[in-house]
Amino acid sequence: MRQAVSAKNCWAKVSPWLKAPASYLLERVRPDIWLGRRFRRELRFADLSQWWCLDRARSYQADRLKAILLLADGASPFYRGAFDKAGFDPAALRSAQDLQALPTIDRSTLRTHLDRMCVVPPQCGDVDYTSTGGTGGTPLGFYISSNRSATEYAYLIASWQRVGFHLGLPLAVLRGKTVRRDRKGLYHEYDPVLRYHYYSSFHMTDESVGRYLEHIATIGPCFLHVYPSSVAALAKFISRAGVKAPDNIRGIIAESETVYPGQRQMVEEVFGCRYFSCYGHSEKLVLAAECEFSTDYHVWPTYGYCELLDEQGRPVTTPGERGEIIGTGFINTVVPFIRYRTGDYATYVGDHCEACGREHVLIRDIRGHRTQEMLVAADGSEISWTALNMHDDTFLHVRQFQFYQDTPGQAVLRVVPAEGFGDEDQQRIQQNLGRKLDGQVTFTIERVESIPLSPRGKAVYVDQRSALDRP
Ligand SMILES: [Zn+2]
Repeated sequence: MRQAVSAKNCWAKVSPWLKAPASYLLERVRPDIWLGRRFRRELRFADLSQWWCLDRARSYQADRLKAILLLADGASPFYRGAFDKAGFDPAALRSAQDLQALPTIDRSTLRTHLDRMCVVPPQCGDVDYTSTGGTGGTPLGFYISSNRSATEYAYLIASWQRVGFHLGLPLAVLRGKTVRRDRKGLYHEYDPVLRYHYYSSFHMTDESVGRYLEHIATIGPCFLHVYPSSVAALAKFISRAGVKAPDNIRGIIAESETVYPGQRQMVEEVFGCRYFSCYGHSEKLVLAAECEFSTDYHVWPTYGYCELLDEQGRPVTTPGERGEIIGTGFINTVVPFIRYRTGDYATYVGDHCEACGREHVLIRDIRGHRTQEMLVAADGSEISWTALNMHDDTFLHVRQFQFYQDTPGQAVLRVVPAEGFGDEDQQRIQQNLGRKLDGQVTFTIERVESIPLSPRGKAVYVDQRSALDRP
């Protein structure tokens, strides 16, 4: 499976003996130079357009929606059929509200019609295959434009800048990357291109966490980039061990899992700095970020188009009401996602922020598939399920999966096979997940016919039966 080579992952390809001299040179170049012209253009645009008035943003959205709808109409048999059936003419689109004439789609639509949804052949040079664990442990694979990383990253940087981050400031990253021990036995790797210090989310023993914090204290003014569950583990360790939090951390960027208010407060108290969160997803349809003053998520109007729909499929427009986040993306021009149900839910707050003045749709209390579920290692330390999310072909022929655990250090991966699943798939899963887990949790694979929901009807990623020690 082809992966885009970008500034964000090229460092991993440098041979180890070249890393020390190369690192010295690379650190002398500004990261935005490495990230390329497209990134710089997108960042300038995001910086500027976030202050647009509502009318200007709406007019921009209508133009982008029209472009993606015309693209879909011209080259995707699936969408052409859907538009015909709805009597919808994309060329006549006047405002984003006109989209409501179209049906929504979801993961099952993608699984059934992916080939007919593509507007360019997936074999093209600038197309990547990507996948996500997503809702209910049901993997979803699709194609996406390989240049999306520059856009995605520009919007993230523009979001993080709201709380004082700037490119060039080191980031201490605990987000599921496979990290090997360095010469001192620390699970740490350094990427001088982006000044990223990676630590292993799969080795969260007290000893390792203590050493991560000691190392972070030496890297100068920095931000943490973490999962909510991983920074909670750091904060709990600091409280339990009675050690001092590093005082060089300027802020905490916590993403990719549900943020719980109590946990946020605990982490902010321990670290004494701002906890900042963004909401996004692999499909790249909706991106929302907190602002300088508020923890409400401000939906970026120029990244994609976001709707909130209630259970009857009606738009949620009353503050305080909840709805499902429906996204129509501007970025993916290989497989257009038009009115895609994300499976994530949020409360509608309003269409502008009094605190910062941005005229963005505001949402809060986002709940969905990014729960904080844990596997327990033999020594009792916890590994976030989010860190095990695979974005490659690991679960290519798997309909659904779930971990079952009743003994620390051991687990069973329940797998509902899809058509074409064979021994090769089983070996690939064992190998790819095993590489990440690095023996902290060993697992066997069990083929099952179905995976039940929890008694409350919720999809569960980790059926956790071992006694969790949660201090
Ligand atoms: Zn604001």
